[in-house]
Amino acid sequence: MSATQVLPLPAAKGPWKGLINRYREYLPVTDKTPVITLNEGNTPLVHCCHLSHICGPNTDVFIKYEGLNPTGSFKDRGMTMAVTKAVEEGSKAIMCASTGNTSASAAAYAARAGITCAVLIPSGKNVALGKLAQASIAGAKVIRIEGNFDQALEMVRVLCETNPITLVNSVNPYRIEGQKTGSFEIVEQLGGVAPDLHCLPVGNAGNITAFWKGYTELHQRNHIAALPTMWGFQAAGAAPIVLGHPVPNPDTIATAIRIGNPASWKQAVAARDESKGKIDMVTDEEITAAYKHLASKEGIFCEPSSAASVAGLLKMVNAGQLDALRKERGLKHMNIVCVLTGHGLKDPDYATKSAEPPVVVPATMEAVLGALGMG
Ligand SMILES: *Cc1c(COP(=O)(O)O)cnc(C)c1O
Repeated sequence: MSATQVLPLPAAKGPWKGLINRYREYLPVTDKTPVITLNEGNTPLVHCCHLSHICGPNTDVFIKYEGLNPTGSFKDRGMTMAVTKAVEEGSKAIMCASTGNTSASAAAYAARAGITCAVLIPSGKNVALGKLAQASIAGAKVIRIEGNFDQALEMVRVLCETNPITLVNSVNPYRIEGQKTGSFEIVEQLGGVAPDLHCLPVGNAGNITAFWKGYTELHQRNHIAALPTMWGFQAAGAAPIVLGHPVPNPDTIATAIRIGNPASWKQAVAARDESKGKIDMVTDEEITAAYKHLASKEGIFCEPSSAASVAGLLKMVNAGQLDALRKERGLKHMNIVCVLTGHGLKDPDYATKSAEPPVVVPATMEAVLGALGMG
């Protein structure tokens, strides 16, 4: 056996029962840990013809469709771990600051565990309606502060330090542990290799930290022969890592990444540098164009923030950066994975605003045929 031989991950035993059950050897749990799960994970890796074509010959682009998790975003991967560990440690209450998806996820897992959930959300229209609805119906105590996400997170950190409440933002290390399983699934779905390039949106930067941790662990354990290049994308109005300093008043339509001072800043920069990758930014127009492309050409409906991954990839294609990477790494064929972090139904308002409204006609065959251009 050669030293470089790659071993597959151990095979799944039985039907899918959530990511802790599937990947327990790689996670900080024991047989006694009370697993709180909604069968999260196991999301599809969908091949995209149009995007592959745009990226050039011998290139396959896949979407990791994280919107298909139980509460509609990748946050469930981290939350199953964070809430499981909170319950194991005897906690009766969890709390988070949220641009929406973390609260939706925390509320659902807390409900499942029978513990209290409190969430602090930013003011104004910065949280999509679907996300707020999820947290409220699950019985979370939702408090809207007259401030932005960064301020909410600062307050939650202090509240959790001084009260018997478990913080479940991505600064909670168990969140990162759960989220790293996204990499494990991608490797299994690609047949035992990491993608050559991994693109994702960057907000508070927990996700880029987690995916990179997942890939490096698989590499250390000899489950993959090579690591991916990581390309993270911030929104132009909320791009502290790109600019190199915090942004006091972040502004973008991509509300899930409207963050001016990411908690995992250092780890994101480490993922970028260790993978010889990039963290760049995309404008709201580029995000919206990618969002529409995904829905209308590939049939995949994501929330606007998610589309930053594809918007960034397309920006890099146009700038010649994808070809540069291909040359630099000497790749004859290239697998690219873009993570779509959340479901489009979280924010139907933005879809309605971005698309043509329905045509209204009288209830006659003639009128309908006329409207279809078949009259
Ligand atoms: C949380 C979130 C992000 C940003 O992830 P970070 O880990 O904060 O970088 C991106 N998109 C969606 C839909 C999210 O919910």
